Amino acid sequence: MPELPEVETIKNQIAPHLPVKVKKVEYSDVSSSIIKDKEFNPMGKMLLKIERQGKVLLLIFEDEQITISGLGMSGGWRVSPTKVLEKHTHFQIMSIKENGEKVFLAYVDPRRFGNLHFFKKPSADKWLTRLGADVSKDEFTPEYIFERCQKHPGKVIKAFLLEQNHFAGVGNYMASEICAHAGILPDRLNKNITKKDAKKLWEATALVLKGTVESGGTTFSGGYKDTSGSQGAGVKSLVVFYQEVCRLCGRTKVLKTILKGRGTYHCPRCQK
Ligand SMILES: [Zn+2]
Repeated sequence: MPELPEVETIKNQIAPHLPVKVKKVEYSDVSSSIIKDKEFNPMGKMLLKIERQGKVLLLIFEDEQITISGLGMSGGWRVSPTKVLEKHTHFQIMSIKENGEKVFLAYVDPRRFGNLHFFKKPSADKWLTRLGADVSKDEFTPEYIFERCQKHPGKVIKAFLLEQNHFAGVGNYMASEICAHAGILPDRLNKNITKKDAKKLWEATALVLKGTVESGGTTFSGGYKDTSGSQGAGVKSLVVFYQEVCRLCGRTKVLKTILKGRGTYHCPRCQK
């Protein structure tokens, strides 16, 4: 499942092509299961820029019209000078850059758990209120983590980090990795997260993002691909997730547990 580093990579690959003018829009036969809202039609519009909040992409069109793209389990975008013919392409924009070059932007999603919302700004703003602080942005601070943990004392930290209404962008591998770098056991109760722990979690998040965003995201078992269809190299920076031996201490076997239904990895030596 694409997490913040993967979505950031896609955003960074699309951004240099913008702005573009949309000349043609195509939908697959089954795109209606992905398209949740259609307050506008992108046909003929200028696509001005792309942004990211948590794990969702925002395609900003002229006249404050915004497409929100959630990638679900296996969604991704392709950028190509020619039409994208890849199987499971559900939405495709043919557009023209300012220099006259054609650009095709295609949403590809084999498992179809992703979603597209074509919103006017008020609806987009309303939709986005469901997301908590984006963990790569200044709004995410040690104080924010501590305060959220205090408000939800009975939850366990690793599962809590996955809640997008608190920590937008964190997914399953990131949550295991953040707890590892912070030295905190995944099943520690929020009420036992101190201010010092919150600072460690904040620092650990920055470290995990640095390792994975710079290397173009991470992929597991055939999921994520970037806009060229490549898989990221970020897997090399992981210290516990999918690891046999902890790469922080270099000598302890990593334990895999199931926490709130999700595979979770930790080092019993490094994490308390
Ligand atoms: Zn260790």
